[in-house]
Amino acid sequence: MKFGGTSVATLPRWQNIRELVASRRAEGARVLIVVSALSGITDALKQLCAQGDKSKRIEAAAAIKQRHHELLEQMQLAPPEGLLARLDDLAQLAEDGPRVLGELAWQAQVQAHGELLSSTLGAAFLSATGVATQWLDARECLTAIALPNQNERTRLLSAMVEARPDPVLTARLAGLGEVFITQGFIAREGRDDGIAGRTVLLGRGGSDTSAAYLGALLKAQRVEIWTDVAGMFTANPRQVTGARLLQRLDYEEAQEIASTGAKVLHPRCLSPLREPRVPLLIKDTNRPELEGTVIGPEVREHAPSIKAISARKGITLISMESVGMWQEVGFLSDVFAYFKQHGLSVDLIGSAETNVTVSLDPAENLLDSDAIAALATDLAKVCRVKVIAPCAAISLVGRGMRSILHTLSGVLAEFGQLRVHLISQSSNNLNLTFVVDEEVVDALVPHLHDLLIGAGALRTDDSALFGPSWEALYGRGDVAPAAASWWRTDERQRLLDIAAKATPRYVYHLPTVRQQARELKKLAAVDRLHYAVKANTHPAILGALAEEGFGFECVSPGELRAVIAAVPESAPLLFTPNFAPRGDYEFALTTRATVSLDALHPLQYWGELFRDKEIVLRVDLGRGLGHHEKVRTGGSGSKFGLPVDQLDSFLRLADAHGVIVRGLHAHLGSGILDDSHWGEVYGQLASLAERIGSVSFIDIGGGLGVPSHPGEAALDIAGLDRVLREVKTAYPHYQLWMEPGRYLVADAGVLLARTTQQKGKGAFRYLGIDTGMNSLIRPALYDAWHQIVNLTQLDAPATALYQVVGPICESGDVLGTDRRLPEANEGDVMLIAQVGAYGKVMSSPYNMRDEAEEVVIE
Ligand code: ADP
Ligand code: ASP
Ligand code: MG
Repeated sequence: MKFGGTSVATLPRWQNIRELVASRRAEGARVLIVVSALSGITDALKQLCAQGDKSKRIEAAAAIKQRHHELLEQMQLAPPEGLLARLDDLAQLAEDGPRVLGELAWQAQVQAHGELLSSTLGAAFLSATGVATQWLDARECLTAIALPNQNERTRLLSAMVEARPDPVLTARLAGLGEVFITQGFIAREGRDDGIAGRTVLLGRGGSDTSAAYLGALLKAQRVEIWTDVAGMFTANPRQVTGARLLQRLDYEEAQEIASTGAKVLHPRCLSPLREPRVPLLIKDTNRPELEGTVIGPEVREHAPSIKAISARKGITLISMESVGMWQEVGFLSDVFAYFKQHGLSVDLIGSAETNVTVSLDPAENLLDSDAIAALATDLAKVCRVKVIAPCAAISLVGRGMRSILHTLSGVLAEFGQLRVHLISQSSNNLNLTFVVDEEVVDALVPHLHDLLIGAGALRTDDSALFGPSWEALYGRGDVAPAAASWWRTDERQRLLDIAAKATPRYVYHLPTVRQQARELKKLAAVDRLHYAVKANTHPAILGALAEEGFGFECVSPGELRAVIAAVPESAPLLFTPNFAPRGDYEFALTTRATVSLDALHPLQYWGELFRDKEIVLRVDLGRGLGHHEKVRTGGSGSKFGLPVDQLDSFLRLADAHGVIVRGLHAHLGSGILDDSHWGEVYGQLASLAERIGSVSFIDIGGGLGVPSHPGEAALDIAGLDRVLREVKTAYPHYQLWMEPGRYLVADAGVLLARTTQQKGKGAFRYLGIDTGMNSLIRPALYDAWHQIVNLTQLDAPATALYQVVGPICESGDVLGTDRRLPEANEGDVMLIAQVGAYGKVMSSPYNMRDEAEEVVIE
């Protein structure tokens, strides 16, 4: 059991340690405790070492002494003799300075005192509170090996140990007792000449590695890393509060996450455990009841997924341009020889015919400006050198990275705005790394983490791997838990009864529609809301939204008729067709709908039809947005909207026919979760409206996104309102309209189907259900992701990995790929969630299969 700095810094933490050790003893295990220095002490010791002034060093040693005495006082313990002796040693080292031992050996000896002190103190506390504990000197167990490429600095401050199972040590400990405590971070230099080697360090954060070495030497049942967080998360939880706990990882993935920047594990601490197959557990000392992360040898069957995003700061890039001949033979060998000579280990490499650029990671190299300058001077003998710093490396980590590249388009788009100095895809296929300027990472990482969830690249729906978010485990009390879906709790039995009568069936839950409507009515800046009925034209839904005071936006005569039949006359209507025939406008003009135009053609050729009418003009602001290329409705690649450069021609035609442009409209796409977008559209439309003169309202469209993946953040309605109110203050003379569709109805609808057949084929298991793309085309058309659950076995463990497919004769008839679900039986009721929008309305009689019926529940 290894306890980190914060885990050993206070009396309550030591009481936790005592309980934990006692509970392991009660299980019959023998325990070796490995401790770090009290939090902050290693830093203080490093500062002491950097101090040239003797009296300042002595002062620093006294402060460290004081800190340990305070903890002893809290523990109500008299200072044990061993501790006093060590404190005296430290005072002596501070007084002597480096002159006796030599600079680096002295530094190692001084810094080793952090762990020597904390372990001595811990042994006294545990023994005094009833857990008889033997103190062990880690330097008698761990011998550092001298590697040919190490220089004196790495040999003393970042040493390596070869840890093979050691039956002699195991037997020795067996003879000594049941509970031991020793130091992390330190080892003894190995020597062939029989002289006792010097004290060496394992590198910052190296106590984890001590625990791993000892775990391997003793072939332990397991190594437990007790820290201040309940495991390894999908990102640094202090930076990304939505980061999810990784419940299980294999050594390779965990290694990759650690070495790309997740400080929770020292990057070297997994390799010693691989060969003896010792599992490693990460747990929170303060919250031992939380599950934590298990890292072990077994690779579980799961879909390729990004597991984490990590970042490392302080990266230095060295760009080397060959000054000699094109494709000069031996260039790499020449330049790398200098890196070796300077004891610097290269991390990432990018190469071209005349240039090679490498990165140096501060975790692997003791980098300082002198070291870099010395290297650059030598390199300049064979090439032109450029040093780029400070940089940061952002890594996406997960097994099978190359097979999930297609899910990363939105994530990659973020790098469009940034200077990317280097991209590297690791040859083990476990990471994709971007080197950017250091200053951008703090803001970028949380944003990329959200995008990875939204894109389904981080498969948070796989609950066997991805546990709760950090916020859910530790978050502030005032964060409301995500509302459980209506179908998961109260209505499950009702849905099973509905499915028992017939499947496939769409079921709509009206309370959810009303709840979403009320949410949008909180937008104080918006004067009128229209429901974009193309999402779902069921009369009960139209009726419910009319009761909530919504207007209706229709795109065809059929929709107009359906709405007119279902809602009271007082409800306002909009008609916003696209490339519609003349007859559609003729019909619409006989209704009370406000008609919108988005091309010159209608006024050029059918101008008389619109004489003296008030219309809405839909413009194209030159760009599109949304969750998929096929839902972006702006930009020259889309057929919607009048390009702004044709505005003057349009206004001349309107004038010629006495047509008044009363409204101005744009809609850029759908599934947008970023509230700032509508503010931009609103501002642009308002400034165009100023040019037109006759405008009295601005319609900024819909596209309000609904999160689909577990853990994806919902649109911030209050934030959106703030954005809109700001624009409104500048343009108070225009009414503001919106036309949401999906936002109102998506979550209200589910599709129920029954399982038919199963088939294993190659690596895949297919689970058939009795409807497919004929009922729900979104997955095939937009790559849309819909949650799928086995409603019959809702709480059964999800042990199978299925491709969920329908009965349609198309290979695209796949409703969900790689879904972790309970082992299904024929006839189980499957529920496909979030299909209230663009579900039934897009269904077809393809293959002459009966269309799903619709059922409405209150
Ligand atoms: P200890 O002192 O116990 O060794 P560390 O501070 O070295 O603890 O490591 C724990 C810290 O690692 C966490 O508090 C967290 O800030 C940081 N960390 C960075 N990345 C991750 C990650 N992906 N998952 C969990 N923790 C992380
Ligand atoms: N005390 C050492 C450090 O702070 C080692 C450790 O805590 O892992 O780097
Ligand atoms: Mg640590």
